[in-house]
Amino acid sequence: MAKIVCVLYDDPVTGCPTSYARDTVPAVAGYPGGQTAPTPKDIDFTPGELLGSVSGELGLRSFLEKAGHTLVVTSDKEGPDSVLDRELADADVVISQPFWPAYLTAERIARAPELKLAVTAGIGSDHVDLEAAMSRGITVAEVTYSNSISVAEHTVMQILALVRNYLPSYEWAVKGGWNIADCVERAYDLEAMNVGTFAAGRIGLAVLRRLKPFGVKLHYTDRYRLPAEVERELGLTFHEDVRSLARSVDVLSIHAPLVPSTDGLFDDELIGSMQRGSYIVNPARARIVDRDAVVRALESGRLAGYAGDVWYPQPPAADHPWRTMPHHGMTPHVSGTTLSAQARYAAGTREILECWLDGRPIRDEYLIVDGGALAGTGAHSYSTGRR
Ligand code: NDP
Repeated sequence: MAKIVCVLYDDPVTGCPTSYARDTVPAVAGYPGGQTAPTPKDIDFTPGELLGSVSGELGLRSFLEKAGHTLVVTSDKEGPDSVLDRELADADVVISQPFWPAYLTAERIARAPELKLAVTAGIGSDHVDLEAAMSRGITVAEVTYSNSISVAEHTVMQILALVRNYLPSYEWAVKGGWNIADCVERAYDLEAMNVGTFAAGRIGLAVLRRLKPFGVKLHYTDRYRLPAEVERELGLTFHEDVRSLARSVDVLSIHAPLVPSTDGLFDDELIGSMQRGSYIVNPARARIVDRDAVVRALESGRLAGYAGDVWYPQPPAADHPWRTMPHHGMTPHVSGTTLSAQARYAAGTREILECWLDGRPIRDEYLIVDGGALAGTGAHSYSTGRR
């Protein structure tokens, strides 16, 4: 029988909802490229309910306990006295989420001798030391595509919010003002701007597709070019490298993984090469940008706005400078955990567990590390030593 430790974010401060804004979430059958949505044998939850917080338990408890397994769910993940650290000693499986990551460092992995499977309920497994997982033969899996469109929608929302100066205008409405000039002194149309994505994988391409109807000029860079018909369809300008992209666009959104070559990539020099008054939206990983370079660029006016939902570490300290820097539109890490996305990644987590517990193969597209090596999606997305 397996022991599964599941690290989830806290319940709402007002307690778990007893009713919801909407009665259902639409079902999504599949994704571009033909991948199907998660196909567990069964689910024990109601799609549209809060599954991603501690009380939601990803809808896993009755499934696991009926089969004789032990499920521990906690949000307490930091420090040697945390529930996570205590439970790791005999855990077979750890489930975590990028929104509230249980950092599975090499040290923690060394203190988890029974650990065989690390599941990301969502996408992005960089909170797991993949080298350590490989050398220990731990399988790492995530629910590929479960929230890619969720993140793309959030990106488009934040681009519009920054360019159109939405948040300050909303604040004027809330505080009883009718200060038209205050609202519009930093407001522009997105139309006709040059907008580019750093990487055009699942999320980056979905952002480009969603921006096309805004009448913008679209740009991107990636390790490999998109098919010529996609470039034609979207009117894309391809850039050989991120430097060329950065100096050519008014708005840049970041959708590359955090790998050694992207760690700290957007530093003073790269941001300084952008046109004065550019915008950056980063829903990929915070460490792809230099934290303090972003603050400096907003203060100097090199950047007119910065938004995203990823921070480092997560949760960030109360005095993290991004909370108070000017002209930002940051949210906590929420883009990929709407109630709609939760239903999909809870189902995907259940599918992964069903396969693993039955000894059936986990879908290739969900695998990051398996058999001591990068595997499946991981072999494509997570290899080290990229340019
Ligand atoms: P994909 O793997 O589909 O796309 C990533 C793209 O980045 C690929 O096209 C890849 O190219 C490209 N790439 C990799 N390394 C580099 C590099 N050094 N320079 C330029 N391009 C590079 O990932 P997704 O689109 O699904 O996700 C992107 C990132 O978004 C994830 O890595 C994750 O960190 C983050 N994310 C954030 C979420 C959130 O809630 N905010 C949720 C989900 C993901 P190639 O095809 O050659 O490998």
